[in-house]
Amino acid sequence: MTTAPAPSLTAAPRIAELDVLWITAGLSCDGDSISITAATQPSLEDLLLGALPGIPKMRLHHPVLAVENGEEFLKPFRAAARGEHPRPFLLVVEGSIPNEKLNREGYWAALGTRDDGQPKTTCEWLDELAPHAWGVVAAGTCATYGGVHAMSGNPTGAMGLVDYLGWDFRSQAGLPVVCVPGCPVQPDNFMETLLYLLYQAAGLSPMIPLDHALRPRWLFSQTVHEGCDRGGYYEQGDFAAEYGSRKCIVKLGCWGPVVMCNVARRGWIAGVGGCPNVGGICIGCTMPGFPDKFMPFMDEPPGAKMSSAAVLMYGRTVRALRNFTKSSLEKEPAWRSPGGALTTGYVRPAAATPAGLDAKEPGDAAEEKP
Ligand code: SF4
Ligand code: SF4
Ligand code: SF4
Repeated sequence: MTTAPAPSLTAAPRIAELDVLWITAGLSCDGDSISITAATQPSLEDLLLGALPGIPKMRLHHPVLAVENGEEFLKPFRAAARGEHPRPFLLVVEGSIPNEKLNREGYWAALGTRDDGQPKTTCEWLDELAPHAWGVVAAGTCATYGGVHAMSGNPTGAMGLVDYLGWDFRSQAGLPVVCVPGCPVQPDNFMETLLYLLYQAAGLSPMIPLDHALRPRWLFSQTVHEGCDRGGYYEQGDFAAEYGSRKCIVKLGCWGPVVMCNVARRGWIAGVGGCPNVGGICIGCTMPGFPDKFMPFMDEPPGAKMSSAAVLMYGRTVRALRNFTKSSLEKEPAWRSPGGALTTGYVRPAAATPAGLDAKEPGDAAEEKP
């Protein structure tokens, strides 16, 4: 049986150059754009300057970071929308998608103008760009599942890109919408996903593994709680009653035990921070049900009342036993003293025992020092 040759970093990339067309014209605060400028694993500069071997050359077209403006900036977007862009492109969308079918006049969100001089809505851009895209990525919770703009009572009928394009949407590369949620998106989570897709475009990695909510599996497979610095306090039933405490903040409203997010483990910038680690309750911003299902934010989650009550009983007992053991372990053994007697339990051969030193039997343990 023959096996396929392993992908090689020195082989010519399957796609040599990939454009990233980034639209922030959803209902958005641009927080995800700001977030990714803080990434370090890899940094935006690493990808733009080709610091990593084997990946396609990346050209970024981003409304905030671009040097071009006006029609000059829109040129690659217009070409891509006509299906005439000279290179494969990755469409990145930031912000939720308003339902333009619901507005009576005017529009909710737009970028540039159409041929008739009227604003070209974000929905029109998406309708034209998505079918030609090598891949489509939703950056941040607004773009993935709707986020804050899609909460109950909103007037725009906003939704995430997955709902807009459809959960069965497939890009030119056969990818569904790749969702990297977070409000804002954790910088390295986004850049690592982008890096994965670049390796995939280069033919150096298999299809990106996504979970049921289309999030990269390796980034969203653990709860906040499982990586939280305060987990030890939770397990001992040691809960903070007010902010500023180092204890578990579940009673202040932390949803960490049921939220899929790696921020407590990964930190925010260069490994530093991570909501509950630094005293901020987890409000579930990476979850499709955010924000409605987590409100009101500052109340103890209903499920946590029961689990923390159970943990409290167990935790108090365990804590008392641990304190007992700890106080013993905090004391040095008594034989470490400058007195004239050797009390370590060492047995000196009888012939070699000098006068004045008492040989002890093994196991003749001394009391601990106070
Ligand atoms: Fe802003 Fe958060 Fe929406 Fe991103 S997900 S656009 S940071 S509100
Ligand atoms: Fe879990 Fe939140 Fe407590 Fe951390 S602060 S241990 S995530 S409940
Ligand atoms: Fe959002 Fe919670 Fe993760 Fe913080 S820890 S980024 S609030 S999901």
